Amino acid sequence: MKEKLLEKAFEAMGNAYAPYSNYHVGSAFLLNDGTIVIGANIENASFGATNCAERSAVYAAYSQGYRQNDIQAVAIVTDGKILAGPCGICRQVLSELIPGDCPIYLSNKKESKDTTINELMPFQFGKKDLDEL
Ligand SMILES: [Zn+2]
Repeated sequence: MKEKLLEKAFEAMGNAYAPYSNYHVGSAFLLNDGTIVIGANIENASFGATNCAERSAVYAAYSQGYRQNDIQAVAIVTDGKILAGPCGICRQVLSELIPGDCPIYLSNKKESKDTTINELMPFQFGKKDLDEL
């Protein structure tokens, strides 16, 4: 399943809209019911409006009614020369929206790494902090 998920993420990378950076990213989320939701990075001339591939995918999954415990595995891939992890904004978003121990498969075809959001982002700020107010 890991290989299929990475393949779907590379397919999604083909949908990236990245005329400014020319840095293409794809993501695929495997859900417990077998559904795979994909996302790609979508840039904008107003750079702050750009959305990363993994956020596109997780927002799409949530928009379809899926929630944290429906997410089984995540793949995030790029065409970059070096292996890349999610940016800081995506780490914050994923820390709230996917399970902490959910496998995250990173790849650029030359290198790969398996990780989790708990590994990528220790001492997370989240809902629990606001609940303590
Ligand atoms: Zn990001």
